[in-house]
Amino acid sequence: MQDVPTKLKKYQVYIDGKWCDAASGKTFETIDPYTGEPWALIPECDAVDVDRACEAASRAFESGPWPRMTQTERGRLLRKIAGLIEKHGEYLAQIEVKDNGKLISEMAAQLKYLPEWYYYYGGLADKITGMVVPVDKPDHFTYTLREPVGVCALIIPWNSPLLLVGFKLAPALAAGCTVVIKPSEYTSASLLEFMKLVIEEAGVPPGVVNVVTGFGATTGEALVTHPKVAKVAFTGGSATGSRVASLASASFKKVSLELGGKSPNIVFDDCIIDEAVNGAISGIFAATGQTCVAGSRLLVQESIHDEFVERLVSVAKTAKLGNPMSYETQVGPVTTPPQYQKVLNYIEIAKNEGAKCVLGGGPAGPEMGGGKYFVQPTIFTDVDNKMRIAQEEVFGPVLSVIKFKDEEDAIRIANDVIYGLAAGVWTQSVKRATIMPRRIRAGTIWVNTYRAMSFTMPFGGFKSSGVGRENGITGIDEYLETKSVWISTAPNTGNPFVMKTAVQS
Ligand code: NDP
Repeated sequence: MQDVPTKLKKYQVYIDGKWCDAASGKTFETIDPYTGEPWALIPECDAVDVDRACEAASRAFESGPWPRMTQTERGRLLRKIAGLIEKHGEYLAQIEVKDNGKLISEMAAQLKYLPEWYYYYGGLADKITGMVVPVDKPDHFTYTLREPVGVCALIIPWNSPLLLVGFKLAPALAAGCTVVIKPSEYTSASLLEFMKLVIEEAGVPPGVVNVVTGFGATTGEALVTHPKVAKVAFTGGSATGSRVASLASASFKKVSLELGGKSPNIVFDDCIIDEAVNGAISGIFAATGQTCVAGSRLLVQESIHDEFVERLVSVAKTAKLGNPMSYETQVGPVTTPPQYQKVLNYIEIAKNEGAKCVLGGGPAGPEMGGGKYFVQPTIFTDVDNKMRIAQEEVFGPVLSVIKFKDEEDAIRIANDVIYGLAAGVWTQSVKRATIMPRRIRAGTIWVNTYRAMSFTMPFGGFKSSGVGRENGITGIDEYLETKSVWISTAPNTGNPFVMKTAVQS
């Protein structure tokens, strides 16, 4: 066990309504990516803690106040959670910035919007209905029930922890499930603060929401394979998602996956150029490129390519790097040391592949306003869609510009990746604005906008970008099972050995 330096804040995990250390007593440090310095200690949970959390969630699902609550009471509780997020949002945003280095302007806006998920699913909680289904068999009354799946494992990455928890936790609670959440080892603090200020304060019964912190290969896998877990809702990289899905499938758990992307942002020559430039910039440099929907492939029609790139670079080079806690800063650090190295490696790969670096192309030290884990906003032109820089998710402030001839060419290039999470289209043609969303194989298509998102709109990916949809009315389906009920209204059951016509399984 490590000595606890006094300057580090020491967190505990929340299991069965109680705060506790990991059973082993082990902790690990979490760092502030702006300074590179550790600032807090997080419990390193292992299979023992995961088992305690899953057993607690299972007990809470089967007995106690939670399953006895009416849907309306659950809805009211979700609205209470929403109100507490409103109360503590600013503080929670600051904790996220401290832990993941994203801009305070972005995180504060995210936390301000987050209560809507809990209000929305709170409203939906008592509108979950089955159906009376007519069947072609006389003397039966038949209907379906929609029931919670049970204990859900929610696994979250580091880029927007509380927002991505909200995508899962709000519908899970509305459906009547109980949960065990594992945040990323790099960004556990905001969720632990959320548990104290919001979940505990709201009076959510013990065992309904539990958190285990630790590492993917140990804590994460123990959770995904735990026999009491009925469903895994995962957001993260595609390789990890594939591993999680295969582990979960061994015991037939339900799985939903929100994974990576290599989204095309497509600029036609009939667009309003200034707007498309702004859309391209926010598509890749917002959140330092660390969003699953980053428009990391900018497809520009060849007739406007040179002019567009010139204007793009002239705006991108004004980006102000700096302390993410300042509202003035426009580009912050990369969140984790391995991610920082990965982004720099991809810049070298692109250079070696023959792409032309027209902006940035390396680390951004203090002399550029940056710091420990900063990368310069980087733009490559002359990118061929076959290059690794065009095919693989970088998850950093690195943009690949790819030329195209016409609509068919744009569609071919847009779809020629393993991913299918999102796409942008910039055009003034109504025809294109209608055709392109139909032809691009991705879960979200934005026309003349980029990165817009709402709790009411389904979100998820095609191909290697995921399985299932979060948000909106369909988002709750991921947390429900359908049960079919047959009630015989026949005067008597009849002897099966003399019934010849009935079809029975
Ligand atoms: P990872 O896939 O590395 O990790 C995601 C989560 O899974 C973390 O909590 C991680 O824990 C955990 N984990 C890692 N290995 C395992 C395992 N074997 N079993 C169970 N859990 C495991 O992703 P990142 O955290 O690096 O996040 C970036 C990725 O997330 C990008 O690919 C991005 O596109 C994607 N993403 C997708 C979104 C979407 O909605 N489609 C939204 C946001 C991000 P630990 O951190 O401790 O390793």
